[in-house]
Amino acid sequence: MNAEILSVGTELLLGELIDTNAQYIAVRLPALGIDCYGMHQVGDNEQRLEAALRGALARADLVIMTGGLGPTEDDVTREAIAATFGEPLSPDPALEEALRARFAGRNIPLVERNFKQALRIPSARAIPNPRGTAPGWWVERDGKIVVAMPGVPSEMYLMWEEQVATELARHPTGATILSRTLKTNGLGESILDEMISPLLKSTNPSIGVYAKRDGVHVRATAKAPTIEACRALIEPMEAALRQILGDAVWGTDDETLATVAGRLLKERGLTVATMESCTGGLLAAAFTEAEGSSAYFRGGLVTYATDVKALEGVDPVLIEQHGVISDAVAADMARAARERFGADIGIGVTGVAGPAEQEGKPPGTVHIGIDVGGTGRAEPYRMPQGRQMVQQRAVMTALFQLRRRLLQA
Ligand code: ATP
Ligand code: MG
Repeated sequence: MNAEILSVGTELLLGELIDTNAQYIAVRLPALGIDCYGMHQVGDNEQRLEAALRGALARADLVIMTGGLGPTEDDVTREAIAATFGEPLSPDPALEEALRARFAGRNIPLVERNFKQALRIPSARAIPNPRGTAPGWWVERDGKIVVAMPGVPSEMYLMWEEQVATELARHPTGATILSRTLKTNGLGESILDEMISPLLKSTNPSIGVYAKRDGVHVRATAKAPTIEACRALIEPMEAALRQILGDAVWGTDDETLATVAGRLLKERGLTVATMESCTGGLLAAAFTEAEGSSAYFRGGLVTYATDVKALEGVDPVLIEQHGVISDAVAADMARAARERFGADIGIGVTGVAGPAEQEGKPPGTVHIGIDVGGTGRAEPYRMPQGRQMVQQRAVMTALFQLRRRLLQA
């Protein structure tokens, strides 16, 4: 089965709203064995919406729409579907009743406009909306399916999870799609691509290489009649990829560097503390993104100004001798963090986020120190340009290096 997604709303076309609904749906289609062949955005205009829907129906078996189901004049999704199928809209007494009950329960006056949401065409079945007033529509005709859901993300998500996804899963699609992502750090996109080039020819599973914020991801995607058959295709490919990529692979699928480092800390019963300069607290924030991080993350200090570093326990002699942008100071920041917070491990990050240079060091220079129980070690790095990029890469590298140290221990 193949699908197209149609997002409705003039806000989307004005660039005021990012189409997160389409993304939400698109990432969920492969698991249902549905191929997505197109995504479109249309304004709140009945004629243009009808044209877009006709086009999508000419190509796809399934069209999934969001938005334009509200009570106002510019909500025209129902009208456009009715026009496309040439069916009349008429009030559905059961829907009117549900609407009345809903408004009565909330003590909000029900006005004439609201009854628009109780209209239906003969081929449409209403999909209940537990979080809002606009029901969705499930339309089946001439071997095609049109699903219309509200634009409000929280309403749409619930409707999708509780009703639409289960209904779609019942439709035979003949195939399931399964992906496995291996996440790496320390290898550039093109180097990695070169390393695994013999495997890139594979078509099932197919292999994709993607540069992401936390490193380069390699994804194997298999298509087969069952999930088990997909797994059987992916397993040998994963083994072959791991053989080549070795310990550059730090995690899979939904794992993040913070959750991976956190899990290792927890397994070993160790705690960590941070002292950050150029990352301004982002490393501490990354640690605390993981659920249950209080079990191993003791705390962090942002020592941005040089005199604050000394105030918080970094040796002023080292600062004097090596400058703040140095391995010696990064290692000493790690030690100071460890001691100050009574942690087993300290991490120190110092560097030049840019765009101006500092102490004669170019932007992107970052030193990361990791002190495990008194044995500190620091390494210098050169991150790509741009303040945000430097900061993000510094955080990812610190977490990756922590993972490395933990695996050695
Ligand atoms: P309502 O009953 O609230 O009018 P609706 O089905 O008519 O719902 P819209 O009016 O199109 O939906 O959108 C309502 C709000 O939902 C938008 O203002 C926007 O905040 C959000 N929204 C709509 N479409 C999208 C989308 N594609 N991606 C993300 N958010 C969206
Ligand atoms: Mg609306």
